[in-house]
Amino acid sequence: MNFNVDESGFYGEFGGAFIPEMMYPNIKELREQYLKILADKSFQDELRLLLKDYAGRPTPLYRSARLSGLYNTNIFLKREDLAHTGAHKINNTIGQILIAQRLGKTRIIAETGAGQHGVATATVCALKGLKCVVYMGKLDVERQQPNVLRMKMLGAEVVPVYSGNMTLKDATNEAIRDWINNPVDTHYIIGSVVGPHPYPDMVTRLQAVISEEMKWQLKEHTGKEEPDYIIACVGGGSNAAGSFYHYLDKPKVKLIAVEASGKGVDSGESAATMVLGRPGVLHGSRTMLMQDEDGQVIEPYSISAGLDYPGIGPMHSFLFKTGRVIFDHATDDEALKAAFQLTRTDGIIPALESAHALALLNKIKFKPDDVVVVNLSGRGDKDLATYMKYLDSFI
Ligand SMILES: *Cc1c(COP(=O)(O)O)cnc(C)c1O
Repeated sequence: MNFNVDESGFYGEFGGAFIPEMMYPNIKELREQYLKILADKSFQDELRLLLKDYAGRPTPLYRSARLSGLYNTNIFLKREDLAHTGAHKINNTIGQILIAQRLGKTRIIAETGAGQHGVATATVCALKGLKCVVYMGKLDVERQQPNVLRMKMLGAEVVPVYSGNMTLKDATNEAIRDWINNPVDTHYIIGSVVGPHPYPDMVTRLQAVISEEMKWQLKEHTGKEEPDYIIACVGGGSNAAGSFYHYLDKPKVKLIAVEASGKGVDSGESAATMVLGRPGVLHGSRTMLMQDEDGQVIEPYSISAGLDYPGIGPMHSFLFKTGRVIFDHATDDEALKAAFQLTRTDGIIPALESAHALALLNKIKFKPDDVVVVNLSGRGDKDLATYMKYLDSFI
């Protein structure tokens, strides 16, 4: 089965480019150029060099002896938490800034919710000396002060958005408006495998470096490239897409995506799109979406800001529908428990997002000779305030 995007930007019934007509020239330019640029040798050389010397790749594949003992199997952590800026997001922003430069763009815009994508974008703009404008809902600006300060220190202009709920969706609308008004000099860096074609495919290809490394790293550790399981958390789906990519056509490798079920799938406070959603159009693509009977988007909830998204990338909707990827979920409590466990077994404080993937270790019955890879998408420094609230309940 082919899981790649087709010529018109679809994965089966999902994907496409449902955009305002005014945005069409920008998307058309990107669609015509991105594969050529990605294949270009000078692009690849510069990308590889920056990923290595600037972002710190390859990130290690680390066998946790204590988790392996605890679950009586072989558990490896892919350490995206060790990448520069503390998560996998830098893989995408480095790639997109190099694409923007080759398209002759001098100004970068982005939207951000929790601020992690804003920081990764501001970082590469500083690196390349490009002007950077980050749209952020007013409410998020207040909630995410440390990341706002980081972006400012990096030289980005953070624009608070006062419309709607003053959160991510509203910031996205504002970024789109900006792009329509500045089609010539500006590139819009989207932070996950969402948005109109070609973004889902472009971001997937940039994150695919994760599974590309996994293959030779697993071979070194275990003698074969293929694990039995790969487990990754899903917000929009970019770290999962990157860690699954080179194994999509290897049916023996079980791929498990973990959504955030917040306070429980039936609690009304959840972000488990695959359980609660149905097809609809969000941010320019047709995908699974949490919506009410009138098609209005339902506000998602998760303790983890990075998983708090009502949709999911269109490729994931297709992987779900075809059954190639198993979608499961973990609650706030299950993620917190897993985060405190890893901290005490391995001395690694994971991002709350990544802790949802770790929580799945409790839900699967592994065999002693199974090889299990958990993608540790990010580090937990940003989540310390949340963790401290629960310290007494989980230790
Ligand atoms: C943003 C983020 C996520 C969620 O985004 P995806 O596109 O689903 O990967 C997961 N983990 C961390 C650490 C993040 O910062």
